[in-house]
Amino acid sequence: MSPVYDRVALIGLGLIASSMFWAIKRAGLAGEVTGYARSEATRDTARRIGLCDRVCDSAAEAAQGADLVVLCVPVGAMAAVAEEIGPVLKPGATVSDVGSVKRHVIDAVGPHIPEGVHFVPAHPLAGTEHSGPESGFAELFDNRWCLIVPVEGSDPAAVTRLRTFWEGIGSNVDEMEADHHDLVLAVTSHVPHAIAYTMVGVADHLRRVTESEVIKYSAAGFRDFTRIAASDPTMWRDVFLTNREATLDILGRFAEELFVLQRAIRMGDEKYLFDYFTRTRAIRRGIIQAGQDTAAPDFGRSKVKP
Ligand code: NAP
Repeated sequence: MSPVYDRVALIGLGLIASSMFWAIKRAGLAGEVTGYARSEATRDTARRIGLCDRVCDSAAEAAQGADLVVLCVPVGAMAAVAEEIGPVLKPGATVSDVGSVKRHVIDAVGPHIPEGVHFVPAHPLAGTEHSGPESGFAELFDNRWCLIVPVEGSDPAAVTRLRTFWEGIGSNVDEMEADHHDLVLAVTSHVPHAIAYTMVGVADHLRRVTESEVIKYSAAGFRDFTRIAASDPTMWRDVFLTNREATLDILGRFAEELFVLQRAIRMGDEKYLFDYFTRTRAIRRGIIQAGQDTAAPDFGRSKVKP
């Protein structure tokens, strides 16, 4: 594939940026990729493993002259990074991001984007519980969705170019409005993470079940919760604080549903429980049929870099 952008800058060099870099190289999507991470340790690691063609010592240096700048930092850090790079952005360049929440990023980053620079937010729906520059791999986005969330006045040509870029990375691309994105993600990702964090927290508090028993006998259900609950604390703190409204809405509905289930168990309502679990099983089958997961007992995770 011929390059979609001459120069791409990745700001933040964690799981998402490093996976993007390897996928960009796999498909030849950029002439040069520059990168920047906050800590010297991460920048040194990036240089050691060949992550980015050039690792810079400031976000502004990495962004200068780039045709596409992708903000790959936690959602709460986006505004400060945008403020730093705003003055050096090249006219005609596109600024995008990979943040898990979109309305907050648009409000926080938008004001720092100068006239003549395109702002096209996006969110790749792929990840693992690992973080940092060494956790990335080129296949992370293959056959996963990337949602592009154009802002008012986004240039259609800039949107199309970013779409081509993400398709080259391996994703299927859809466009979505920001508030709708945040609600959909609250259902599919943010609240499930909140529940996993809570369940692991419950086991932690339950002194009747010792820690060693929880670990020793952890069967699929709890083990999967612990995997999700091992996700990066900074990233998830920011997600909940910046998608507060949608998360609280869905958590409220979850609590109501849980009370109904609790009552059915207490009352011995066989029919309710059986019908409920039959409906939920159909949702799981739908996800597998849509190619968004595998029916393998390990959820296909053996492919994922440890
Ligand atoms: P990560 O592995 O933890 O990496 C975050 C990177 O951002 C690191 O290079 C870190 O630098 C840098 N950083 C952190 N705070 C910063 C600050 N205040 N200023 C400048 N740089 C800073 O995170 P990730 O999983 O790649 O997530 C990055 C973004 O992608 C987040 O917005 C997240 O919401 C989104 N996202 C994540 C997933 C997922 O499953 N992980 C999926 C889709 C989207 P240091 O290493 O030097 O601290």
